[in-house]
Amino acid sequence: MNSHGDSLLRVTKAEQYLLDKIRLGNTQAWSEFVDRYRGRLMSFAMAKLFQSADAEDAVQETFVAFIKNLQGYRGECALETFLFSLLRRKIIDTYRSRKAKHFCLIQDSYSSQYDKEASDPFESLAGPTQTASWYFKADEQYQMQKVALTEALAELVDGFKSALKFRELQIIELLFYCHISNKDTAKILGIDEKNVALIKHRSLKQIRERIASLSLPADPSSEEFENLLTDIWKLQRFSCPKRSTIGAYLLGTLDKQWHDYVDFHLNKLGCRFCMANFEDMKNQNIKNQNRQLRARIMESTAGFLKKP
Ligand SMILES: [Zn+2]
Repeated sequence: MNSHGDSLLRVTKAEQYLLDKIRLGNTQAWSEFVDRYRGRLMSFAMAKLFQSADAEDAVQETFVAFIKNLQGYRGECALETFLFSLLRRKIIDTYRSRKAKHFCLIQDSYSSQYDKEASDPFESLAGPTQTASWYFKADEQYQMQKVALTEALAELVDGFKSALKFRELQIIELLFYCHISNKDTAKILGIDEKNVALIKHRSLKQIRERIASLSLPADPSSEEFENLLTDIWKLQRFSCPKRSTIGAYLLGTLDKQWHDYVDFHLNKLGCRFCMANFEDMKNQNIKNQNRQLRARIMESTAGFLKKP
């Protein structure tokens, strides 16, 4: 097995090329990067903060944090996921300063509960939402565990997708990505709790068999182990449709089964990341305020960009 986890790299050649140019201080490249991600980050921030001034602040600070920590991004999760995790920290900071709280959709109402209670078997693996230090950890055993679990989960999800077993996929998404109980999963999907338990049992069995030869930080039958699966799922977003698939959903050009699945993922599960992409694409033609925000971001990050 590749102990350094190269098989997990989620950054494309084109992105790597852009990042390399940014690292060299290329303003054009940075501007292109900001243009590419600003819209979806803004949609995400607006959905959580509701006020555009706060949302713009959070997005601006996200880009500042990104460029200041550019060396820390090693491609272990997609750029978009990394940016979302930085943004989410900014939003939590804003909440703290506002002391406001609101819950909506499944992910919000359940994951906030999970976030609080999550025990952390890898210590510094607190999920991308809580710390960026995870990206720096290079311990060999840790890398092997992470790679094995990631591959096992990816295999499970891909298996369901390629067999078009969307009901099974929805069940494990609710269980592992949203981290909610069998009972609530059954209620949300309108199915028998026994079916949920069965799919969960089979899925965990498949994962355990895949990792049987490894020593893990948590007993594979424990609650901690399931927390770990959720952390990894949140980072890798195994079941999130590609941005192009969300675009096809928006245009109504997907096959029915895929359309229904994406619809579930967006509107019932309420995946915040995919919703942000969806909103961004919907608003892409409305380019008003964006120019101003763009100017703000470029201005506030200019000092951190290396001079050529
Ligand atoms: Zn998603």
